[in-house]
Amino acid sequence: MWQSYLKISRLTLVFILLTTSLACPDPWEALRLPDGKIIGGASKPLTLRNESSHDKRWMQMVPGRFGYGDLWPGGTIIYCMGASITGAADRTDMRLSLQAAWKLWVDAGIDPNVQDFREGTVGDCSSPGNGALTVEISSDGTMHSNYGRYSDGSVMVLIPRNDVGMGDKIANYAHEIGHAFGLLHEHQRPDVWTAEYGGTAVTPSFFFNCQNLKDFAALEATRGAKSAGEACQSYSKAIEFEFSASHFLPEPRDESGVAGGPLDLKSIMIYPSRAGGINPGTTPATGRLVYTLWDGTEILPRFVPSQFDVKNMKSLYPATAPQTTPCFAFQACSPFQHMFNQVVGCRR
Ligand SMILES: [Zn+2]
Repeated sequence: MWQSYLKISRLTLVFILLTTSLACPDPWEALRLPDGKIIGGASKPLTLRNESSHDKRWMQMVPGRFGYGDLWPGGTIIYCMGASITGAADRTDMRLSLQAAWKLWVDAGIDPNVQDFREGTVGDCSSPGNGALTVEISSDGTMHSNYGRYSDGSVMVLIPRNDVGMGDKIANYAHEIGHAFGLLHEHQRPDVWTAEYGGTAVTPSFFFNCQNLKDFAALEATRGAKSAGEACQSYSKAIEFEFSASHFLPEPRDESGVAGGPLDLKSIMIYPSRAGGINPGTTPATGRLVYTLWDGTEILPRFVPSQFDVKNMKSLYPATAPQTTPCFAFQACSPFQHMFNQVVGCRR
């Protein structure tokens, strides 16, 4: 089925290249919901959408735009063990842990016939840059993942321990799987931070105890109190200083993401209040509160994807994705969309 789909796409590409005066594809086309509703406004995609309905929320990449990769063809991520996972025991642990993490998504409502996350064969993993996701063990104490798929290879970096992040390895991996498919941090939505922090909210949702971040004291010592204060309020400053506030503040890049609906405190894509905090103890629960809700309420770790995480994911990879229907080259579901855009001069 996939091969025939590729053939159709190639044929479509040739056909379209022979046709003139075609409009650029709608960048929001990939976000069209099964009911025909389009997320975001094509004419002004950088503006956050105000949801009138409270049964939806989104914080997701726009495939192919700025710092984001593409959708995974067929809604499937094929992962390969990276060079940092060498021993048989480590490989087995990683394999079983990733399977358990993916099962959390399936148990929460993701249809495994529409989306899949599985280990590649020897052939899939024999060539670096074949489009698979390479899984590595972190060497610097941070976990991260590319958003979406990059044709020259995507990476997911994990920490096989239970004393970081949510305090649960499988939940942490499920969070990173969310990123890999294209979901962004719920707490970094610009519409829940005020302008003081680079956001768009009129009233704040969070109280940010930036000085409780593990690396704040070192930053203040090397850069001074004024610069440290600036980095507590500016994502770009935090990035410049390699300061962990960048994991909390709203990202300018989110201008190209999509967010809307109420803040989902049950999202597995939201950081718990003590993540990244100074920790005199031995478990995440003993760390200091880095941020809370505005009224001081602690945001607790979440160990399973929420119903809105699942809706968010399904909106990126709808059941009508190209496994059973042709996907034209100008559509975001096609792996040839970038090539098409470049050829017809519709670079975004
Ligand atoms: Zn994350």
